[in-house]
Amino acid sequence: MAENKRDYYEVLGVSKGASDDEIKKAYRQTAKKYHPDLNPGNKEAEAKFKEANEAYEVLSDKEKRARYDQYGHAGVDPNFGAGGFGGGAGGFDFDLGDLFGSFFGGGFGGGARQANPNAPRRGEDLQARVTVSFEEAAKGCRREVEVQKIETCPECGGSGAQKGTSTNTCPDCGGRGQVNVTQRTPFGVMSTSKTCPKCNGKGKVIEHPCQKCRGTGRIRHTVKVSVNVPAGIDDRQMFSVPGGGNSGINGGPAGDLKVAVYVRPHPFFERDGYNVWYDLKVSFTQAALGDKIQIPTLDGDVKFDLPAGTQPGEIFVMKGKGIQAVNGRGRGDQLVRVIVNIPKSLSENEKQLLMQLETSLKVKRGAPVGSNDKKSNIRDKFEKHRK
Ligand SMILES: [Zn+2]
Ligand SMILES: [Zn+2]
Repeated sequence: MAENKRDYYEVLGVSKGASDDEIKKAYRQTAKKYHPDLNPGNKEAEAKFKEANEAYEVLSDKEKRARYDQYGHAGVDPNFGAGGFGGGAGGFDFDLGDLFGSFFGGGFGGGARQANPNAPRRGEDLQARVTVSFEEAAKGCRREVEVQKIETCPECGGSGAQKGTSTNTCPDCGGRGQVNVTQRTPFGVMSTSKTCPKCNGKGKVIEHPCQKCRGTGRIRHTVKVSVNVPAGIDDRQMFSVPGGGNSGINGGPAGDLKVAVYVRPHPFFERDGYNVWYDLKVSFTQAALGDKIQIPTLDGDVKFDLPAGTQPGEIFVMKGKGIQAVNGRGRGDQLVRVIVNIPKSLSENEKQLLMQLETSLKVKRGAPVGSNDKKSNIRDKFEKHRK
């Protein structure tokens, strides 16, 4: 199906060289145009909205974008196998350095000295990524992720020996895992001990290795894991699923699954910590007279009383209508910023009405009116218009 897809740059109406900001801005515009809330029941808008989401998911991700630029849709299509999203362990474009430090955490002592191969070792951490909508990040959601996981082999239970057989003490080292080597050197015969090559230091050999895991005791397979994306998580933050990583070795604990979260921007909400900004566009009559207005929030539309005499840029706080705090109680607020639309084209009649209003307001505040008003050229302009 990939060949039927529209070009992602074309979908968002940006050039190939567009910056991250340009892509974000273009996405918000497109999403606003086709948002299901604003186009209820419109199938075509719904399809376009989905298409924009898909384009944004790829173009906002440095790595996916590079793959898309090189291979087109096939480079990022999950149905095209390893090259696609399913890569799982594919790199993040932000720093995960410290995560990898824990791989070798208690595994090796200092220097070249090899640790006891029979000691329990923690499984490696795994990485996955999810893309969620603004609302899903605000409220939390469940997502299925695909990871390539190394788990204890179910066939042999991790022993590495075929079912019904057992491991034997290594004949070469007698179970010590170390063998003595004598070497003739110019200084005489030297005797050193080294890791037994037959059993790799384990002291045991597997006569009949398990077919499924080839004697390693662990197998790699692709699994789908359902994860809980915590409410309040922000774009490019990460959460951890303890024990969701690879199985441990020799009875060690499993590693963790680290999930990076990408949040699609919202067409009309803007996140600011746990607060949500919303620009409310009103006419100047509404601002002057006040009005009852429906305002969208994360909890759906809410009735809002715009007070008479509202000024442009005035900010109203809707308490507790923001985003759930990610690691505690409470919610942020929704901040409503008032944008007053000044009409751009007026009929003659409307202009006259406005002039009447202006005259009346001047009388009210005691300002000079009419031909005596040398400072104001509004009236002059108006008079010219009438002629
Ligand atoms: Zn096995
Ligand atoms: Zn041995």
